[in-house]
Amino acid sequence: MNLKTFSRGGVHPPEHKLSSGLAIEELPLPEVVVIPVSQHLGAPAKVIVDRGDQVKIGQVIAQSEGFVSTNIHSSVSGKVLKVDKFMDSSGYRKMAVQIQVEGEDWEETIDRTDDLVRNTVLKSEAIRKKILEAGIVGLGGATFPTHVKLMVPKGKIAEYLIINGVECEPYLTADHALMMQRTEEVFAGILVLMKGLGVEKAIVGIENNKPDAILKMKQVAKGSKVQVQGLKVKYPQGGEKQLVQALLKREVPSGGLPIDVGVVVFNVGTALAAYDAVNKNRPLIDRVVTVTGKSLEKPSNFLVRIGTPVSYLVEKAGGLPGDTAKVINGGPMMGKALSTLDVPVVKGSSGILLISEAEARRKEVLPCIRCTKCVTVCPMGLEPYLMMSLSEKARYERMESEKVLDCIECGSCSYTCPSSRPLLDYIRLGKAEVGKIMRARKAV
Ligand code: SF4
Ligand code: SF4
Repeated sequence: MNLKTFSRGGVHPPEHKLSSGLAIEELPLPEVVVIPVSQHLGAPAKVIVDRGDQVKIGQVIAQSEGFVSTNIHSSVSGKVLKVDKFMDSSGYRKMAVQIQVEGEDWEETIDRTDDLVRNTVLKSEAIRKKILEAGIVGLGGATFPTHVKLMVPKGKIAEYLIINGVECEPYLTADHALMMQRTEEVFAGILVLMKGLGVEKAIVGIENNKPDAILKMKQVAKGSKVQVQGLKVKYPQGGEKQLVQALLKREVPSGGLPIDVGVVVFNVGTALAAYDAVNKNRPLIDRVVTVTGKSLEKPSNFLVRIGTPVSYLVEKAGGLPGDTAKVINGGPMMGKALSTLDVPVVKGSSGILLISEAEARRKEVLPCIRCTKCVTVCPMGLEPYLMMSLSEKARYERMESEKVLDCIECGSCSYTCPSSRPLLDYIRLGKAEVGKIMRARKAV
């Protein structure tokens, strides 16, 4: 079979999907949660509770501030211990609400039954409002507020909704588990997003290493306007631009967004969250997180409340193996190392990966041999060896003209380099500096 995929670059890292096929396990509540007020791209939400307040599950504790922002809810019931700065997965201390868990007191408006609500009578504006109220963001890791993405900018037309079921990062299996175990709700969420966006056509893209998920999603979508498409396995197919190109052969322009070619992309988990928000009145208070690693006793797909400490997840997966050298927030290709396990699960947490000393050992960095492998695998058509050299020399304006901001930080270049050059580290640094230059230019 001639399967679709994106045309430029890409790599094939070993999959290591250790938790594939495992049932989603709902974890018992921890004693204390820490819920950051900035778990999304855009302005942090404004805290509206105080120390000593009693809160319910699903209650708004921080309100959306500004156009690109969203609400934050309490994921537990109990007493607010502190409103203060706490360390998050970025390694910085940021504003958060710490809550002592007491009982299971839910907001009465939430439909907690398992009854499937297949359709919504709401129109698109009301859908967007509910999604904002429920604090839904892109759960694939980008955390862009979903209600904003559902607003098609003036002059643009949305033709397709694409649902990203690719999960191309090695080790991660949370989206696969959702497609297998929450199939009906994910499908109903796709219908909600189609209505919110005002489109008639949707495509679910799933890589061919998940044939069971392709089959299940095809069964549920039969007779609808939702098409399910299997894709050839290639990293980073889960990148929005790569997925649009793979499915529709449309090129998102440099510096542009999928909506520039008539497409809006959401992740599988976001579709489920949209279903919960609109059809069940349930805000985003939990998510599925893959906890995995070759030395870990019990790799798992855990359903956990937002604000649960990462250390608690690791403990429930059998505890920290003795040979752990690194804990990564996310997958091995795009994830970032955590400096402590004492940070909370947030809306964008898709996985926790424990890497052993043997796996983490960095090979010696050797000089560039001009083999151009990094150029061949770059899905954005960049020249990573050049970017690294420009970043080393602090030539940021040249990096800007070489379109460094198009880099999607997929790590394919570093992965493939025979000289083990830390290309992505330097490119990230350069991107941050170019961002600063551009902001300063705008401010003049
Ligand atoms: S330069 Fe960026 S987009 Fe290209 S391979 Fe490297 S990390 Fe990926
Ligand atoms: S892959 Fe490594 S050695 Fe080859 S050109 Fe790129 S940076 Fe140089």
